[in-house]
Amino acid sequence: MSDTSFDLVVIGAGPGGYVAAIRAAQLGLKVACVERENLGGICLNWGCIPTKALLRSAEIYHQMHRAKEFGLSVEGASFDLDAIVKRSRGVAAQMNGGIKGLFKKNKVTAIMGEAKIAAKGKVVVKTEKGEETLTAKNIIVATGARARELPGLEADGDLVWTYRHALVPSRMPKKLLVIGSGAIGIEFASFYNTLGADTTVVEVMDRVLPVEDKDISAFAKKQFEKQGMKILQKTTVKKLDRAKGKVTAHFEAGGKVTTEEFDTVISAVGIVGNVEGIGLEEMGVKIDRTHVVTDEYCRTGVEGIFAIGDIAGAPWLAHKASHEGVMVAELIAGQKPHPIKPNSIAGCTYCHPQVASVGLTEDKAKEAGYEIKVGKFPFIGNGKAVAMGEAEGLVKTIFDAKTGELLGAHMVGAEVTEMIQGYVIGRTLETTEEELMNTVFPHPTMSEMMHESVLAAYGRALHI
Ligand SMILES: Cc1cc2nc3c(=O)[nH]c(=O)nc-3n(C[C@H](O)[C@H](O)[C@H](O)COP(=O)(O)OP(=O)(O)OC[C@H]3O[C@@H](n4cnc5c(N)ncnc54)[C@H](O)[C@@H]3O)c2cc1C
Repeated sequence: MSDTSFDLVVIGAGPGGYVAAIRAAQLGLKVACVERENLGGICLNWGCIPTKALLRSAEIYHQMHRAKEFGLSVEGASFDLDAIVKRSRGVAAQMNGGIKGLFKKNKVTAIMGEAKIAAKGKVVVKTEKGEETLTAKNIIVATGARARELPGLEADGDLVWTYRHALVPSRMPKKLLVIGSGAIGIEFASFYNTLGADTTVVEVMDRVLPVEDKDISAFAKKQFEKQGMKILQKTTVKKLDRAKGKVTAHFEAGGKVTTEEFDTVISAVGIVGNVEGIGLEEMGVKIDRTHVVTDEYCRTGVEGIFAIGDIAGAPWLAHKASHEGVMVAELIAGQKPHPIKPNSIAGCTYCHPQVASVGLTEDKAKEAGYEIKVGKFPFIGNGKAVAMGEAEGLVKTIFDAKTGELLGAHMVGAEVTEMIQGYVIGRTLETTEEELMNTVFPHPTMSEMMHESVLAAYGRALHI
């Protein structure tokens, strides 16, 4: 490379890094983005996007089995797992190619290689052709995260999978154990269960999707069980005995140990930040349990080094990573961006039924000392949901009784991942119950349930 001096070097081209690079380039900075594997990071290649492609196939397959309900007929509905996976990989490849195009358009220099901060303002990159040294006043570390591995439950790619293996399966699991019922675990459980795997989900906490509101977790659990999933809560996997073609899982619940055989296990027990080998500790950057400690502007405390996305604080979501990327790029370019409010970032899980939420759960709102008003509205009371054949779901809203601030919104059911943004905008604009009640929602839409839930919090719901 001829020119190795930049205003900004971004390490990692996931949704944090590539978005930061584009925004900084838009603001006139000379930017390089270094990536060791795939442009687009985990999200586009091994996370958000390919999982949604798989889940879409499962959803269509599920709807094919419901054809009769809609006056249609589908004979002999079946699937080809290789073709489903091929489509998912094709979608990921298309997205990855899109980033290449965006970098070119915005004049971001993309460098494929492994980067390490060697000194203040200096990044050494190992590429296929050898080592290159880049200089830049500012460095954004956006190296993301990988699957957490627990001792004894490590993935082997054959019997025990991480999300990477589960995205490109070597076979269709017959009897599947999913360890962990967070978003990643439940999405894979939903996918394989819909395709016919006999699926068990084990969760150490007292409910599935443990970060969600307890009413939403309970509703989702009932739906998963109706679909044939077995859910073990307050249960720990003590060990996995691996033999040819089978794994014996040892479960412990309430002091009692039981065992069960599976042919496939997916371990989805969280993530660890990619903090190693990047020179962070040598530069004095503080790390707390595999994540970089940052302030509200993603500053690490070491001048000229920022950390964004999964390597920094929760929530570990693509849209949070991207928003931090934009914020830091603007900060470096001399603008005055707003810091991110983690409580206004929605979380979406694309299982069947979908789950989406923003802000405080009922328990967290009470713990925080709020006097609250709670509204609930079931999907069965909404004409569009019934017409769509999607009458199973719930919308729950939580307000500060004193000020009318929307503290939290929680949804389970069809299309809720598309609807939650309405409440996110409400929170960003610091909307109160009155403004939400005075908003006219189009009919017939499922969004009317969002209105009804707000009305319900104040005893004014119309359709229940
Ligand atoms: C199965 C799965 C499903 C998910 N679904 C969703 C979802 O639906 N919605 C959602 O919001 N989030 C989802 N996530 C989480 C989401 O993928 C992450 O939050 C997001 O990718 C984080 O972005 P990032 O830019 O911080 O890191 P990453 O996307 O992890 O990107 C980091 C990049 O840095 C590169 N890198 C690391 N070290 C170096 C180095 N030394 N030199 C050069 N490059 C380096 C890596 O190769 C990687 O490409 C999912 C995750 C998984 C695993």
